[in-house]
Amino acid sequence: MKLATIGVGNAGSKIIDRMLEFEDETGRNLCRHVMVINSARTDLAKPDYVPEDRRVLIGDTHQKAKGHGVGGDATVGAEVAKHDIDEIRRTFDDIEIHEVDAILVAAGLGGGTGSGAGPVVIDELQKMYDEPVYGLGILPGQYEGGRPALNAARSLQSFVQKVDNMIAFDNDAWRSRGQTIEEGYEDMNRELAIRIVTLLAAGEIDETEVAENAMDSSDVMRTLDTSGISSIGYASTPITREEDEGLLNRFKNEQQDPSEATDAAKIKGLVRRAVNSRLTLPCNVASADRALVILSGPSEVIARKGVESARQWLEQEADTVEVLAGDDPRPNASDLAAVVLLSNVTETPRVDEIQEQAVEAQDKIQQLEDDREDAINDLITDDDNELDPVI
Ligand code: GDP
Repeated sequence: MKLATIGVGNAGSKIIDRMLEFEDETGRNLCRHVMVINSARTDLAKPDYVPEDRRVLIGDTHQKAKGHGVGGDATVGAEVAKHDIDEIRRTFDDIEIHEVDAILVAAGLGGGTGSGAGPVVIDELQKMYDEPVYGLGILPGQYEGGRPALNAARSLQSFVQKVDNMIAFDNDAWRSRGQTIEEGYEDMNRELAIRIVTLLAAGEIDETEVAENAMDSSDVMRTLDTSGISSIGYASTPITREEDEGLLNRFKNEQQDPSEATDAAKIKGLVRRAVNSRLTLPCNVASADRALVILSGPSEVIARKGVESARQWLEQEADTVEVLAGDDPRPNASDLAAVVLLSNVTETPRVDEIQEQAVEAQDKIQQLEDDREDAINDLITDDDNELDPVI
């Protein structure tokens, strides 16, 4: 697929930056247009791969932001984006829309800019272009507390209503112990970039080396054409090459039982591993509306029979007949990767948990505001209420 990518807020911009890094490392050419939008000037300085002139500061003339961010308030994030909508629209004019198949908007939903400005940006893109607009939304971890959960639960509603499909990533599921939050984010961003780029770059080259079973970007788009929330599974295994003849050897998969060590069984095993390992958003696989499997690597190691039996296996797991499977030929890849898209999953405990945490936080915030107001009244009013204000 050829993609226009837009990162909104800090997390959204960092994810886009890692996507650019991964495509650079692997010789892909997915992101044809890149832009990051933020209300905090300091965060805009962070990306390594996003060109300077593709970084847009919003809200520098807005009273509540002034270039310093929106203080984690999604409502202010949305306000600031609306305030600067003309400028945002002007930067979109640069998108060579005939060169892209779709637009991807990435944002962390727990903060203020991504969660608030993200939906405003998406609204505008939907008005301006006919191409599908996909969301890439990061859900905050439970450990972050009530305010991020409240932002995320509200922003999730806006995102899902406005995008053509929203691919979700759950920070809670990907958090590992013994790391600082920043170290954790680095690893998570890398893992997410690998998954999203491997998935969306399939069929990116028009004239694929005539691989009969090559996945086309229209297959990926068809699978995403469900609306709702989606999750991605991924597994990879290194390929060994015979150096003398430059021939590809069959790939190794140590986790495979040697007795069934045929290439086809290995392909199926790899796809199973992708589905059964940590998904970007943990969910009940059987609740998916559609699914898609892509085997990305040198064609020589992608056994056709294996792809077909993996497809059939996934058809049963996902309990849907809408399962597509194909190859993404990468002659120089050092790994064989299986990426699985589970589109429109409707059973995901994490979304329910975030909503519960959000409702609790909203009640608590309301209660604290009420208590505060009572306390101020108590303070300024005399005991028997005998005094009146001046005006
Ligand atoms: P914003 O700039 O106001 O949108 O706020 P941030 O993007 O800094 O943070 C919003 C949310 O994104 C946080 O609540 C975290 O859940 C998440 N987050 C922030 N940075 C990262 C990151 O680098 N990686 C991941 N996976 N999540 C992040």
